[in-house]
Amino acid sequence: MSEPAPPPSRPDSAHPDILRGIAGSPGIAIGTAVVVGSTRHTHPRRYVSAHDVPHELDRFVAAVALAQSDLRDMAQRVADKPAEAAILDAYILMVGDEALAEGVRHNVSTERRCAEWSVVAACESIASRMRSMDDSYLRERSHDVEFVGDRVLRALGGVSGGVAIPTIHGPSIVIAHDLSPADTAAMVSAPVVGFITEIGTRTSHTSIMARALEIPAVVGVSDVLKRVMTGDLVIVDGLRGIVVARPTEAEVEEARTRSERYAAHAKELQESRDLAATTRCGVPIALRANVELPAEALLARDNGAEGIGLYRTEFLYIDRTSPPTEEEQYEVFKSVVEVTRPRPVVLRTFDIGGDKFSSTFQVPQEMNPMLGLRAVRLALSRPDVFLEHLRAMVRASAHGDVRIMIPMVASLTELRQVHTLLREAIEQVRARGLPCAEEIPLGVMIEVPAAAVMVDLFAREADFMSLGTNDLIQYALAVDRSSRSLAYLASPFEPAIVRLIAGVVNAGRNWDCPVSICGAMASDPLAAILLLGLGVRDFSMEAAAIPEIKETLRRVSVAEAQAVAAEALENRTAEDVEHCVASAFAPRLYDILAGDA
Ligand code: PEP
Ligand code: MG
Repeated sequence: MSEPAPPPSRPDSAHPDILRGIAGSPGIAIGTAVVVGSTRHTHPRRYVSAHDVPHELDRFVAAVALAQSDLRDMAQRVADKPAEAAILDAYILMVGDEALAEGVRHNVSTERRCAEWSVVAACESIASRMRSMDDSYLRERSHDVEFVGDRVLRALGGVSGGVAIPTIHGPSIVIAHDLSPADTAAMVSAPVVGFITEIGTRTSHTSIMARALEIPAVVGVSDVLKRVMTGDLVIVDGLRGIVVARPTEAEVEEARTRSERYAAHAKELQESRDLAATTRCGVPIALRANVELPAEALLARDNGAEGIGLYRTEFLYIDRTSPPTEEEQYEVFKSVVEVTRPRPVVLRTFDIGGDKFSSTFQVPQEMNPMLGLRAVRLALSRPDVFLEHLRAMVRASAHGDVRIMIPMVASLTELRQVHTLLREAIEQVRARGLPCAEEIPLGVMIEVPAAAVMVDLFAREADFMSLGTNDLIQYALAVDRSSRSLAYLASPFEPAIVRLIAGVVNAGRNWDCPVSICGAMASDPLAAILLLGLGVRDFSMEAAAIPEIKETLRRVSVAEAQAVAAEALENRTAEDVEHCVASAFAPRLYDILAGDA
């Protein structure tokens, strides 16, 4: 999940007003800074008498209802944007969450604090529990709890639909420590042209929402609140992950030109959405989507995806201490399959552990969680939970083309064990008289170097294989994928990686086992050409990247890509490989590589 990220924000040595962060949403915007604060810091802290307790509790109940109705209104306004509507739906549920209500009841009744103070205290206690978890995703989600508290606080202050943003005149760049999806959605009608936040990554909700709203954003700019003030002119470069505060006239002019070029480029890409995904010489390429949230299945379809090549089912396990039931999982899988059919959906069995959501299973503390009880290892250690998961998938197969994929497989034994459990799950579903597909292909991710070495044997026993290059790079090069400072070592152009991929593709060809790629390498235009040349014809990537990769591959013939791949296989360093691909193709991709036309 985590992608290589730039180093933390710091003043650029050559230009004191350039701040670096992470490109959260593409595009370039120029506007006046509006620095927004949070209502959390200004809430009243009053003790109340026993007599006032019922009144405070009533105020809280009314505020929850008001906050939920505001959020529902916002969800309505963005109903045609499935990703953000889904996030707002999640917020509606969080506002009404029993853990919050229970915390507030305790604070009001026992501690005798007023409703506002109780909301802040209850949220802080929930968020601090989440922050102390090993699980980096949950730690990040602790901010959601703070936002939910913020919504209720605003409602307590009688600020219906309130946004912590002053009245905005003219094109504005909103700058905040963080922005909730609710705040972001509320800006749909305001003249907000860009966002900058101090925290967040490409996968944080602010970034997802900003991309859905098509508003440029730079996130993770750690000191922006200290460096920019309301009224400053600011450039948000969501292509490079850069913020320019108080730019010179020349910088504004340059940004304006690039912004116009990017807008024209994005429009062109959208137009190519309905064109066939083929190479210049007419060879068809499958471009599928990686999906984390069920609502993204619609987004995938809108971006012209030919199905879902990777559904990361572990996202069902977020924010909960017990696994979802078979029924819950079945309903979610079914909805994704129905939206996508007749195209295929590859359901990956949960990849929990490592840096992902381990709290659901109370995985013991490990020195090296990335090398620990993760993915298929965890699944096989809990066959009861895993069988429920598999049965839900098997039942979803009654509604469309379902394929099941196993993450982090290192040995054939693991594949065979899952095979046995899958057969058991199918028998259990049939014994209950429930329908399922005749055939459910079972594939493996090739993301552990051992599997890449043994790939000729995997190709004989698996129904398909998918290259998980995010992990393959991490494990083959021994570079922690979540490390910002080592990101420069994790190049998909490393000759070791190119050779491993070539070996997997060849084994697939020799043993008639389909090979696809679902790692982030697939959404890098130059890497995608290298993959094409190595023989990959089936790509899966984040939905938003599909138009760009389609356009890239439409400009390249298979013979050209093959010639460059053959040369790359002879190269000795990552720099040489990248240079070899770039020198052959960058000139004709200049607009795509620069993110403009
Ligand atoms: C990968 O490892 O390349 C992959 C696609 O899976 P994830 O990023 O979920 O580990
Ligand atoms: Mg992986």
